[in-house]
Amino acid sequence: MEEVSRRDILSQNLSGEGRMHDCEVIIVGGGIAGLSAALVLGRCRRRTLVIDSGEPRNARSRALHGFLSRDGVDPWEMRRIGGEQLDAYPDVTRIDGTVIDAQCRQGGFDVDLADGRRFSGRMMLLATGIVDHLPQVEGLDRYYGRSVFHCPYCDGWETRDQPLAVYGRGEDGVDFALELLGWSRDLVLCTDGEALCEKGRRRLERHGIALRQERVLRLEGEGEALERIVFAEGEPLSRSALFFLPAQGAHSPLAQRLGCEVREGVSETGPLQQSAVPGLYMAGDAARSVKLAIVAAAEGAQAAFAINTALHKSNSRE
Ligand SMILES: Cc1cc2nc3c(=O)[nH]c(=O)nc-3n(C[C@H](O)[C@H](O)[C@H](O)COP(=O)(O)OP(=O)(O)OC[C@H]3O[C@@H](n4cnc5c(N)ncnc54)[C@H](O)[C@@H]3O)c2cc1C
Repeated sequence: MEEVSRRDILSQNLSGEGRMHDCEVIIVGGGIAGLSAALVLGRCRRRTLVIDSGEPRNARSRALHGFLSRDGVDPWEMRRIGGEQLDAYPDVTRIDGTVIDAQCRQGGFDVDLADGRRFSGRMMLLATGIVDHLPQVEGLDRYYGRSVFHCPYCDGWETRDQPLAVYGRGEDGVDFALELLGWSRDLVLCTDGEALCEKGRRRLERHGIALRQERVLRLEGEGEALERIVFAEGEPLSRSALFFLPAQGAHSPLAQRLGCEVREGVSETGPLQQSAVPGLYMAGDAARSVKLAIVAAAEGAQAAFAINTALHKSNSRE
């Protein structure tokens, strides 16, 4: 009975205008990292607010792989289940919204949402993820997440032993092609108009990887299945999947705004996900680590553990 009324009070504050004073932890980002943190904090009976703008990094993916007990699950279904399970914890409130600004002040943090709402919390977790910038190749966007991928750990198994293209330039492209040998021996590196140095060519030759250096005009294939790559010159290349290395950036400017150093979208954290700013934690893809869902979930849990401990210590000093 008492728990129900606590949630009701929180909800009234959330839907109303002005500031919610009753929150111990604000989590910005309700992806895997944020939801995982909220689950642990909810179980610790910490009044937690999760704010999410609903744009997870893997929105284009059909199936999430490599997550023990959830291998192959639809990523949206996983989020739905996560949210549903959180509903059992009365101290956790989830809202839709985009945090556009955040301030660190004595004893906590304030956040401003795009729709004008403003919330305060004693501790804050940024689990805002990153964004991938896709190469500007006609058709690539259409096949992305279906037969064009960036991560062999996520989708390499499903394309094993198939004819694969690797899209990349310079030594990075060569290294990525060599890495993909673990999944298929039938590989062609496409440099999209950039000439590869002699050393790079010799490395590819030694490992039986073919090279196409012509400019890529477009990707073609029925439905969502890549079938061929069309070049500015020469014959089209028949391939059933393509892997590329994306450029990456921050999904949100909040970490930088709060004083964290951000490089290629990610910030350094300590062993318990703490940032350089006291009371501010980072988890998931936005923190420098392996960018896999199960790691994001683990980091969320780790941050929640650290936040709960810090709140407990601070309360017992008061
Ligand atoms: C195509 C693709 C396929 C993938 N496949 C796999 C796979 O098979 N296996 C695997 O382990 N990993 C996979 N990944 C990686 C996996 O998606 C990420 O590691 C995981 O999503 C990271 O979780 P996260 O919670 O850190 O970030 P996200 O899942 O990106 O969640 C971040 C959330 O924060 C929200 N947000 C951002 N800024 C704000 C803001 N200012 N205010 C409010 N909310 C905000 C976003 O809307 C989003 O919902 C894949 C990635 C891609 C791109």
